[in-house]
Amino acid sequence: MKNIIIFGAPGSGKGTYSDEIVAKYHMGHISTGDVLRGEIKNETELGKIAKGYIDNGQLIPDELMIDILAKTYDALPAGQGVIFDGFPRTIPQAEALKKMLAARGHEMGMMIELIVDEEVLMARLLNRAKEQGRADDNEETIKKRFAVYHNQTAPLSEWFAKEGIRNTFTWAGSKEQMVADICACIDAANA
Ligand code: ATP
Ligand code: MG
Repeated sequence: MKNIIIFGAPGSGKGTYSDEIVAKYHMGHISTGDVLRGEIKNETELGKIAKGYIDNGQLIPDELMIDILAKTYDALPAGQGVIFDGFPRTIPQAEALKKMLAARGHEMGMMIELIVDEEVLMARLLNRAKEQGRADDNEETIKKRFAVYHNQTAPLSEWFAKEGIRNTFTWAGSKEQMVADICACIDAANA
């Protein structure tokens, strides 16, 4: 299986589609958001640092994130393909990922971009706040996360296009349709 990078704004469904892909293709899954929330829950040194950034809607500094990502990747069993969910979020992170994989004889594989209107995203995140109670899912922090996404993360979309691995999917109201379209794309890339 090719590696997959799943990319999109907060609330675009990166975690949701990752779960579908993992269930179908039995790939490894790295969600940097989940890794960081685990560190916070366990009250580690890293967790203490991460909490300050996350609660404020900011990104964790690149050097720290790149280090965490490499360690998490190396801890997964090799050879089954990995889905990167929430990483990279900046151009330096993307360059570091490409280099880290190349050093291991691996490739980025394919990138899947999720496009969803901002009003839909806001509604989803406020709803998630009710269901899961994530500290960063409140209106004020969500707005900051959208701004960070536009300024620091969205420009990466073109970076992936230049790498020739971008595949774009636009939300049209049906999760089943999105899953079917994404899986067809994954099948074609691995054929
Ligand atoms: P989703 O699409 O899953 O709804 P999200 O983008 O809101 O998600 P996560 O991916 O869970 O959320 O990330 C939550 C927070 O963790 C980010 O706002 C950021 O502070 C931090 N974080 C996660 N990944 C990275 C990263 N690659 N670089 C820097 N900070 C990160
Ligand atoms: Mg997530």
